[in-house]
Amino acid sequence: MNEPGGIDSAGGMGLRTAVEGIAWPAIVPDAGAHLLALNLQLDRSQWWSLEVMQQHQFKQLRALLAHAVATVPHYQRDDAYRDWLCCPDEDARTAFRELPLLTRRQAQEAGKALYASVLPDHHGMVSEDETSGSTGVPLRYRTTSVAGFFWNAIALREHLWHRRDFAARHAFIRSRDEAGLAPTWGLPSNLVFACGESANLPIRRPLSEKRDWLLAMNPHYLMTTPSTLRALAEIAFEGGLPLPRLREVRTVGETVTDSLRQLVHKAWGAGLVDIYSSSECGLLALQCPQTGHFHAQSEWAVVEVLNPQGKPCAPGDVGRIVVSPLHNFAMPLVRYDTGDFAEVGEACPCGRGLPRLTRILGRHRNRLFLPDGDTSWPNLSSLPWVDLAPSLHRFQLLQRRDHSLLLRYEAGQVFSPDECERVSRALLAHLRCTLPLAFERVQALPLSNAGKLEDFITEIDAAQGTRP
Ligand SMILES: [Zn+2]
Repeated sequence: MNEPGGIDSAGGMGLRTAVEGIAWPAIVPDAGAHLLALNLQLDRSQWWSLEVMQQHQFKQLRALLAHAVATVPHYQRDDAYRDWLCCPDEDARTAFRELPLLTRRQAQEAGKALYASVLPDHHGMVSEDETSGSTGVPLRYRTTSVAGFFWNAIALREHLWHRRDFAARHAFIRSRDEAGLAPTWGLPSNLVFACGESANLPIRRPLSEKRDWLLAMNPHYLMTTPSTLRALAEIAFEGGLPLPRLREVRTVGETVTDSLRQLVHKAWGAGLVDIYSSSECGLLALQCPQTGHFHAQSEWAVVEVLNPQGKPCAPGDVGRIVVSPLHNFAMPLVRYDTGDFAEVGEACPCGRGLPRLTRILGRHRNRLFLPDGDTSWPNLSSLPWVDLAPSLHRFQLLQRRDHSLLLRYEAGQVFSPDECERVSRALLAHLRCTLPLAFERVQALPLSNAGKLEDFITEIDAAQGTRP
């Protein structure tokens, strides 16, 4: 069976061999062999029907929840979890949807009550970290070697889906990267494939340094965050960052807009492949190699998209993403509300049974609420700001609880009445609304914990925003 972008395509990709003199077929080193073995299963399961997938998910969920009610205080406080374990298989799906949601705030408040007191054998080391947290309080979380192994397997699946050339040079500009050239792409690719070099730069370096560094590195692949990518692609679009070898740009960590995909294509003629993940929940959705939409990673997590009434969204509807990672026994998260929103799609024409998300829209705090109940996720970076207000350095649009808008900005001077008029007209037309808009020049705009300036933030809370 010749499956597109699956493990079958790995044969010609320079597998590593652990035995001297055995070049082909490769005897892959042990850690890589385990990853390949799991990917062989993922290659099969990606084509399963929703029903077959759910049967397997609930089998694993029972194992996770049995562990959780035995060892995790949070799941001992509510009988609903124990009751779910007792319900017959045919009722499991309906009863699962009755289990309480766990919001991020509740997870923060629960703290160590979400940690397992003991782990089953062979789940490996427990590691503890915290989310970078774009805003507010970071969430401390625990994970295991086994959960890390699944992370690596899905990351490898992502490479295989998109048929990357592991011998090529890969550049990474991310928060935790250390500067320098490494001999391989790093985990998980180097466990399985004979990789080319990776070039790494911390994301906090100035934009001019990133540009000069990329020019010197001349990579085939580039991975970074969407906001950094936009700044680099704008330089490239003006002719200041030619990367003639660049084949593909990869993004992680923030929401990708269609305008960014178009900008990257115009700047370098390259495609953009996005990954939807979070540090506490792992890799949750990968971009389909055929359609460019997203597939939930059902082998790793139950991914639900729910409407304001808590019911599953129909195709075409937008709802909140609620996830239950199935294999992290150190800190089980059951029906965890990620705070992100997605649009649900029909079955994917690629044939994969993994649920299709046509768009990942971003977080609640970046959602605009209109008085008629309509909502959207504004993308303000595409407006012609240089023409609208030449002295503008940076801005942030805020929506107040009364729905009105406030544009806070850093600029060389206070906007003139003409500039206010121009910005107001362009902004409200772009947002397709007539909400009141005020201006305020500030010395310094607040950055998120991740060091990012968000274009748009709402003060309307989730309960107010989703009230019918
Ligand atoms: Zn697909």
